[in-house]
Amino acid sequence: MEWKPDIIIVGTGAAGLFTALKFPETAKILMLTKDEVLRSDSYLAQGGISTLKTPDDFESYYEDTMKAGRYENNKDSVKLMIERSPKIMEELMNYGVDFDREDGELSYTREGGHSKFRILHHKDVTGKEITTKLYECVKKRKNIVILEHTKMLDFIIRENRCVGIVVKESEGQVQALYGKSIILATGGIGGLFVHSTNFRHITGDALAIALKHGVEVENIHYIQIHPTALYSTKPGRRFLISESVRGEGAYLLNKDGERFVDELLPRDVVSCAIKEQMEKEGSDHVYLSLTHLDGEEVKQRFPNIYHHCLEEGYDLTKEPIPITPVQHYHMGGIKVDLDSKTNIKGLLAVGEASCNGVHGANRLASNSLLESLVFAECAANYVSSHLLEEELHMEKDEYPQPDLSSYQEEALKKEYKKIILNEIKRRDGDFYAKWCNNEN
Ligand SMILES: Cc1cc2nc3c(=O)[nH]c(=O)nc-3n(C[C@H](O)[C@H](O)[C@H](O)COP(=O)(O)OP(=O)(O)OC[C@H]3O[C@@H](n4cnc5c(N)ncnc54)[C@H](O)[C@@H]3O)c2cc1C
Repeated sequence: MEWKPDIIIVGTGAAGLFTALKFPETAKILMLTKDEVLRSDSYLAQGGISTLKTPDDFESYYEDTMKAGRYENNKDSVKLMIERSPKIMEELMNYGVDFDREDGELSYTREGGHSKFRILHHKDVTGKEITTKLYECVKKRKNIVILEHTKMLDFIIRENRCVGIVVKESEGQVQALYGKSIILATGGIGGLFVHSTNFRHITGDALAIALKHGVEVENIHYIQIHPTALYSTKPGRRFLISESVRGEGAYLLNKDGERFVDELLPRDVVSCAIKEQMEKEGSDHVYLSLTHLDGEEVKQRFPNIYHHCLEEGYDLTKEPIPITPVQHYHMGGIKVDLDSKTNIKGLLAVGEASCNGVHGANRLASNSLLESLVFAECAANYVSSHLLEEELHMEKDEYPQPDLSSYQEEALKKEYKKIILNEIKRRDGDFYAKWCNNEN
């Protein structure tokens, strides 16, 4: 590549796109994604994005976030995220994001764990609205170049400074790319699990490469399992059946049609109860039933879920649907500070790939899009003021030249999966045995 970027951003979800937009237009930015730009988990976000609706909600929002995180959250990260949230919403609207309104005023909703209405949304496709609008803005920037179907395979580190990455381009060529700063926005690890709501190509690559190079990671065994996704044997990601369906009175049933757990217990408890039930029955799913509820009301309240289930061959107003607990979100990741810096100079991480401790042991609903954007801005600010003007102080022939012929994509894929799962097992053997010990 002739054009030499200052900054390389790996990943084009909400975190990557927002980071790119937060740089001055004088910075030359290269973005890359394994797939197409809009095939990211950010795009799939349904519920919404939390914000500090009024200053007097601060204490309550802080407490809700800490409580969900079992008080293991990094308090400074939580404070920063909440404080910055109104400004982030303003910026999103300036970028063209259209949040739902009622009588001209912004409309706020509430989800599990939130004691107040403070979640902005765009119908039930908030992630699509945010990522498409951010992408439209990115396309207008002449300083940003995006490479699709280009996969990061490795970091290039020289004397504790990250100076580049190894990538496999869409044409299949492996090459080294260099920059003053590398920002990892590669999302979570759902693609490593048989059952996950995540896109299959989101497989924690940056996390595995970080572990390989001894970059610090944190809370890698804190993984959110969602109790109810529609069971399917088809390849691909799993369709989420929102928690609010149980909130509206749906029952969880075993194969004999009997209830076996209080459906409104916390997510992790319900997921474990389902898992135990499946093991007892030697089955890979249980059932969720709404048949005792008013069918017309169900269709009105959950049109999207109703239609998706119909497409899969289930009329949920007439029959129980098969469901299974699935991997949903990674609270852990590459350890970063409030500037999104890792312990390697020039290497930053944002969004679900990173861990700044904001979610503690468990993420509060609708906090992840917000976290991605707040700390993306922190990363861009830090790099703009500390690394952008700096030269790498390397003569051309001093750039580290990795042996590009040694990168075999399929072998690396297996190796990286093993690295992550082994680390999860080392940190929490019980979690591994329950949720990770599967073939994929
Ligand atoms: C079904 C679903 C519903 C959700 N609902 C909500 C919600 O309502 N509210 C909320 O706040 N959060 C929600 N979330 C979570 C939220 O969407 C994500 O956690 C968050 O958006 C992560 O954004 P990100 O930019 O860090 O990663 P992603 O959006 O996942 O993007 C990752 C990017 O990295 C790229 N990439 C990965 N590996 C490589 C590699 N090796 N080389 C090159 N590129 C690579 C991918 O192609 C992709 O472009 C939901 C998630 C899912 C799956």
